[in-house]
Amino acid sequence: MGGTFDPIHHGHLVAASEVQAWFDLDEVVFVPTGDPWQKSDRDVTEAEHRYLMTVVATAANPRFNVSRVDIDRHGPTYTIDTLRDLKAEMPDAELFFITGADALADIFTWRDVQELFDLATFVGCTRPGYTMDPETLEKIPSDKVTMVEIPALAISSTDCRDRHRRGEPVWYLVPDGVVQYIAKHDLYASPPSPTEGTN
Ligand code: ATP
Ligand code: MG
Repeated sequence: MGGTFDPIHHGHLVAASEVQAWFDLDEVVFVPTGDPWQKSDRDVTEAEHRYLMTVVATAANPRFNVSRVDIDRHGPTYTIDTLRDLKAEMPDAELFFITGADALADIFTWRDVQELFDLATFVGCTRPGYTMDPETLEKIPSDKVTMVEIPALAISSTDCRDRHRRGEPVWYLVPDGVVQYIAKHDLYASPPSPTEGTN
């Protein structure tokens, strides 16, 4: 499961757990992105923090692991490189790429899209507020994508960051350890107000 995980939240974890159970997967590997090219319009938190929050959030689940392949590779993250690297690490594994409906909707803008389907089966998770456009779904080879209905959690990292900046709680939207990690490292702090420090 690839993601920016800025921060990881319970929407990600429930989707991963559902897909793990649905396909009886040996493990779910969370892969925090390095430099996400789709998000070059905003400052993404340092990869090391996003990686560590993902480790904290997944540590208790024996079927959940976190990979550094994307954050250790230089340059922007493309899913094709993620899948090639994971395949090289686990040549005998059958790979499934877990993604939310919003991300899957963009799949034809991804690099080397045909090879993506050779490397993995795509699992599209329903996500509140997003519907898959039937035309996009039709273009994906039907044996290469499965849509899975996930208990709806209208949580997004953007909303978690905004809530934290406004001083609103993120408890129970993200795992407890992630709430504490955010506080400890002062992530998603509000920018200083223009009047601050003038007297
Ligand atoms: P941001 O708001 O910063 O884009 P996000 O909440 O969308 O953050 P990402 O790290 O972008 O989180 O998402 C990683 C993957 O998890 C994507 O494929 C996304 O579609 C999926 N996902 C995120 N939140 C949910 C959710 N609540 N339910 C189902 N899938 C989700
Ligand atoms: Mg997103």
